[in-house]
Amino acid sequence: MGRFIPLSIPNFEGNEKKYVDDALEQGWVSTGGAYINKLEAQMAEFLHVEKVAACQSGTSGLHLALVECNVLPGDMVIVPTLTFIAAVNPVRYQFAEPVFMDCDDSLCMDPVKLRKFCETECQLEENVLVHKATGKKVKALVVVHVFGNLADMEAIMDIAEEYHLKVVEDATEALGTYYTEGRYAGMYAGTIGDFGAYSFNGNKIITTGGGGAITARNPQDVAHIQYLSTQAKDDPHFYIHNEVGFNYRMTNLQAALGVAQMEELPEFIKRKHKNLDLYREVFEGFENGHLLGFREGTYSNQWFYSLKIDRTKITASMRDIINRLQEKGVQTRAIWGLIHEQLPYKQSIAYEMEKAPYYSECILNIPCSTQITEEEIKYAADCIKEVLM
Ligand SMILES: *Cc1c(COP(=O)(O)O)cnc(C)c1O
Repeated sequence: MGRFIPLSIPNFEGNEKKYVDDALEQGWVSTGGAYINKLEAQMAEFLHVEKVAACQSGTSGLHLALVECNVLPGDMVIVPTLTFIAAVNPVRYQFAEPVFMDCDDSLCMDPVKLRKFCETECQLEENVLVHKATGKKVKALVVVHVFGNLADMEAIMDIAEEYHLKVVEDATEALGTYYTEGRYAGMYAGTIGDFGAYSFNGNKIITTGGGGAITARNPQDVAHIQYLSTQAKDDPHFYIHNEVGFNYRMTNLQAALGVAQMEELPEFIKRKHKNLDLYREVFEGFENGHLLGFREGTYSNQWFYSLKIDRTKITASMRDIINRLQEKGVQTRAIWGLIHEQLPYKQSIAYEMEKAPYYSECILNIPCSTQITEEEIKYAADCIKEVLM
């Protein structure tokens, strides 16, 4: 005993301490300071976009994106059910209603059902999509790039254009993922839709403790988000505010961490690939489960590794599987509980659910920290095979 292989922990092998010390020494610890601007510039360069706004969390970024999409009380926003709940809650912060969509085999939103919903359940009235049964306006959709994969953005953007929907990409798990082929070749997750949100929470591919960022196709939207995130201050000296703002700006201490982490992002992605390759070797020929891949024509950051358990062979509950692995010192986790089944969302519309309930019973996320060793990968894989016998 004594052995413990965590699911996903942060990696601070770079300039983190140096930059945080520097921010402390300069006394810039709050929502002003050079590291915030530096992180925004670094991200804009990495993502090939004009402008990025750093904020307190991925959740706050998603909230500001919905504000910017003019999502108002009583509106509808289409969201996935198979995701972390932070992708959905901001809809309710605006007193709007989510409509839950199923996933396809990429675990991301199913564009076929999305189109069917828009076509059969809604109608366009003067370029506004209206949900026929309730009369509510469908303003936007939130598409999540699950575990570093990319949703089918070509299909989704076509539908959004046809039905006049704003597209908010939740790229909180997909920083560094991009298309290598097709209409969006060279474009990064989060830079294809109208808005893209990133998260720097502790388990994400880079972390600032807590933090996030938002970009938009229109740089003026990003500037307005920066303004809203700092209490909508129109005059820095005389406290004039012409809109209701938020306290959502990232702090300089967080940004100091972020600048160091961005320097390491390419190395982190390299290690995610190398480690997944090794897992693939070790799981080759294993009959009771297999590792999911990522969308063809994309380069994924491979943030999280998903083992799909063959439910025709293994009937043990996820809870049992995870507990037995925990006893062996291997930390794993189940995919999220479906959001349309959670207490706050049980009354919301859930459209033709089929694949999300299926995948929620068979996906196991396995240890994927960037500093995991080869020996630890082999040990973890052996334990997983043993438990899934
Ligand atoms: C992490 C995450 C978020 C929220 O990011 P925070 O920075 O924790 O607020 C939103 N959506 C998804 C899919 C996430 O994984």
